Parts: sequence; structure tokens; C-alpha cells
Amino acid sequence: MSTDAPDLALDIRDLRKTYAGRGDAPAKDALKGVTLGVPVGSIFGLLGPNGAGKSTLINILAGLVNKSSGSVRIWGFDQDANPRMSRASIGVVPQELHLDPFFTPREAMEIQAGLYGVAAGERRTDELLAALGLADKATAHARSLSGGMKRRLLIGKALAHSPPVLILDEPTAGVDIELRQQLWAYVRQLNEQGVTIILTTHYLEEAEEMCDRIAIINHGEVIANEPKADLLGRLDRKTVTITPAEALTALPPALSGQEGVEAEVTRHGALALTYSRSKASLGGLLDLVRTSGIDIQDVTTSEAGLEKIFLDLIHSDDDAG
Ligand code: ADP
Repeated sequence: MSTDAPDLALDIRDLRKTYAGRGDAPAKDALKGVTLGVPVGSIFGLLGPNGAGKSTLINILAGLVNKSSGSVRIWGFDQDANPRMSRASIGVVPQELHLDPFFTPREAMEIQAGLYGVAAGERRTDELLAALGLADKATAHARSLSGGMKRRLLIGKALAHSPPVLILDEPTAGVDIELRQQLWAYVRQLNEQGVTIILTTHYLEEAEEMCDRIAIINHGEVIANEPKADLLGRLDRKTVTITPAEALTALPPALSGQEGVEAEVTRHGALALTYSRSKASLGGLLDLVRTSGIDIQDVTTSEAGLEKIFLDLIHSDDDAG
């Protein structure tokens, strides 16, 4: 990517959107002052429950919805002051699998490049079709493309003008596992080539696997925005599963009622202890287990994942609001 890259691929400040009410429907504040910076080179996850404002935000970035107030800079270009350059700096892969049925993949790519003023000699149509595994479908009827192929063609279209920033809105919804893996491999490759990626996904595991930074939006506000590792490290709780030499049938009394510890016997007769790291230590718990007469055969620990953190954050925000 060029050496004159800004620090932030997206620089969004105090962004607000109010949809006007219609008929009986009241006006809706979909974005209530969103400030968000997406560092250049990241794979950035934008997460939030339904109705949080993700699509509104993406549609503003794509130039499909007008903001009510605030500022948006894409690749350093202010959307109001420099609409042409800011638009040229971003590609958006929409959620809906909508393609014009009258154009072949090659034609669709060429038209898209033309819309962005890419000169004929600089178009990447065949390169992109090949990279997306669509070379042999270049002249096929759009109707004959499978859902996965359509998805890939939409990615190709979004890349036709070589934008440094790519937004993928729920790119793997309804996509089978194999294709999902292929899509992610391609997205990683794009990122390695210098494209900053922003993605929304319902699959928190996917965000956990793919993203290096994650923002969570709820009721039109950003409630978290940090490196994935920090977000995952936020959770104080950890689970240790202890397999005893002999399967347990009941919880040893010494283990119930410990502060900051939830103990339970699993279906397989193992002991699962979920504890707060600030209140209990693994060593102390293991001592307690031994002194309650359990012969420890195996110990495994697990951290809570993004799913748990996401739900905790959303719920505590909802309670506070
Ligand atoms: P998400 O993509 O996170 O599900 P949206 O941005 O679609 O959230 O919606 C945010 C809020 O704005 C929701 O309450 C939704 O009902 C409302 N909303 C979205 N689009 C419109 C619209 N065109 N007119 C009125 N309200 C809208």
C-alpha cells in the first residue's frame, strides 16, 4: 500500500443518525454519537445485536445513507469535503446477494470498474475473477451462479477499484463451512497485501478467529473498542475442569460456597470450577480439591470466549440504560 497511508483507515467522530418518523412511527436515533478509529492494516470486527446500528453505520460509510451530524474520514478523506476520494477509498460487500441477472461476472466487474473511472488498461477483472475462483464462470449467466459464487463476485465487485479499505457485511451468513474457510483465507490474503478489513458477523467465533480489533455497538453507541486480546482478557472468569480418578456423583461439600467460585459436577462425573481470577487462584482450588479427598487424574483450563464477553457487555449496558 502507498507510503502516504494515514494512521486511521476510518476516523469516525461523534456520528449521529436520526431516521425521521413516518406516520405513527416515531423518529429513531440509530447512531447516538459514534466515535471510532480503525487502524490501517487491521481486520476490524464490528459486532452488535440486531438493531444496534451496524447497517446504518456501514450504509453511511458506503454513501447510501446520509448522516445527521458528525464526521467521517475514509483513508484520510473527509466524506463532506472530499466525497469523491473518500468514496474511491472504500469497497463495500453488501449483505444481500443481489446481482443484475443480465450481466456475466466479467461484465459485472467491468461495469463496476467503469463506474469508478478505472481506465480499461488498469482493470483487474480477470485477476480478481481468478483469485476468487470464478475464472471459469467469467462468461456464465448470473442466474447459473450458486450463492457462494454470487458472494465471491460481490467481493470482486467491491475490489474492482482497488480500495484500501474493504467492508464485509455479514459475508458468511448462510455460507457453508468450506466456502467460509476459503473466503476467510482470501480476506487474510487481502489484508496481508495491505487492505484494511472491517467486518460484521453474527458468528462470534469467526470474529474471535479473524479480527485483531473488535468494537461492540449497542443501541447506537460504542460500548467497547479494543484489541481482541484485551477484550478477551477483560473477562476475569476462568473454568478449570478436574477429572478425578473415580467419577463423582455429588459435589464435595468443601467446594460449595467458596467465594468467587461456582462448582458443579459434569455429566461425566468431572468437577468443573468456574472462578474469578481476582478472587481465587488455581493452586488454591487444586489444594482444596485434594483435601476434600479427590484423587486428581487430569486438569484442563479454559478461558471464556468472545461470546460470553459480548453477552456480558450487552447485558450490563442494557441494565445501565
Ligand atoms: P443493525 O444493522 O445493527 O441491526 P440498523 O442500523 O439496521 O441496526 O438499525 C438501527 C436502528 O435504526 C433500529 O432500531 C432500526 O429499526 C432503525 N432503522 C434502520 N433503518 C431505518 C429506516 N430506514 N427508517 C427508520 N428506522 C430505521
